[in-house]
Amino acid sequence: MMKRASLRPIGLTLPIPSPIPLLLRRTFTVQGTPISPSGHPIPPQQPSNASVFHDAVQAIAPRTNWTRDEISDIYNTPLMELSYAAATVHRRFHNPTAIQMCTLMNIKTGGCSEDCSYCAQSSRYNTGLKASRMVDVQSVLEAARVAKENGSSRFCMGAAWRDMRGRKTNLRNIKEMVKGVRELGMEACVTLGMIDTEQAKELKDAGLTAYNHNVDTSREHYPSLITTRTYDERLATIKNVRDAGINVCTGGILGLGEKAKDHVGLIHTVATLPSHPESFPVNALVPIKGTPLGESKAISFDAIVRTIATARLVLPATIIRLAAGRNTMPEEKQMMCFFAGANAVFTGEKMLTTACNGWEEDKKMFEKWGLRPMESHETLQGQQELVSQYGLNMSVEAVPGVRETAALNA
Ligand code: SF4
Repeated sequence: MMKRASLRPIGLTLPIPSPIPLLLRRTFTVQGTPISPSGHPIPPQQPSNASVFHDAVQAIAPRTNWTRDEISDIYNTPLMELSYAAATVHRRFHNPTAIQMCTLMNIKTGGCSEDCSYCAQSSRYNTGLKASRMVDVQSVLEAARVAKENGSSRFCMGAAWRDMRGRKTNLRNIKEMVKGVRELGMEACVTLGMIDTEQAKELKDAGLTAYNHNVDTSREHYPSLITTRTYDERLATIKNVRDAGINVCTGGILGLGEKAKDHVGLIHTVATLPSHPESFPVNALVPIKGTPLGESKAISFDAIVRTIATARLVLPATIIRLAAGRNTMPEEKQMMCFFAGANAVFTGEKMLTTACNGWEEDKKMFEKWGLRPMESHETLQGQQELVSQYGLNMSVEAVPGVRETAALNA
């Protein structure tokens, strides 16, 4: 009887994790030569995207050397096959029944000097939004307590301004908020515009879990949306956050007049950072009257699912956050997003300036579909299981999100 070659993902010396669905077991590559499961060599006229797709499905660790063409090949896979593959990878890296519930509070509304063409809070557009001063620390901590009581494990605080320059008092108050949220046993996230290395370090010392700073879209499409700060300035803030040891939350908005290639470009930007972001929010534009994008047509649902599924395959260990626009989706659509790899939501009374699905509504929906809120400690547990199950040669500290979660549970 012919001895069967061991099937190994390229460049790795570990057995393929089980179980890989039959549909996806059609071909594997052994030492550069594609063979069928029965051991027969496959002629080289395989479509170029087959091996990219199958390698992505077999992945047992994140990689940061993706090319745009590879991501584009994955993005353009027939949608049902793409979603099923994403669901498969999702099950390897995450518990598919656990959804992280995060509550986002606006701690300083409106009056922002930036010109983001989708934003209700820019002072350049007449959106009817009233600007306000920063909320006091106690009110924020009370809101966090309510969020925790309702099942949220993460509390995110957003302030509408360009950057933190000259905001010493604000930073001091925000650090108090961060400390207070952590003392409640929750993960703390902030989104404050651009920050420098020193500000990032101060936030880290206060116990900040994650910093949100979206790149929004592809590098090419970005200048048609925002002119007051560059794509590279955004990446510089992300670097400052990462260098300070804070988890990075960065993603995008769909429906900004972009093309499919910009979804690929967005994913490529974050997938080729020195390490993948811990969190990748996928927002669907909520058009705001008075902004340049106020009359935009809604992004098609299949494009949302395709983006989520592609992100799941390309960023396998990252938490994918179904963010703005979720409240316009019926349950069935939300479930399709969870199936394709989304595993976090914003929940509560409001999401910055737009409506949000409420806790009760989410709880009922989760119960009906067999989902549950993710606990703070689960990221760590999930990654430890990966290490012991597959003998991954990576330290737990190297996995996005793990170090902070470990500290939370220490
Ligand atoms: S920086 Fe933030 S708050 Fe300011 S306009 Fe842009 S998205 Fe809105």
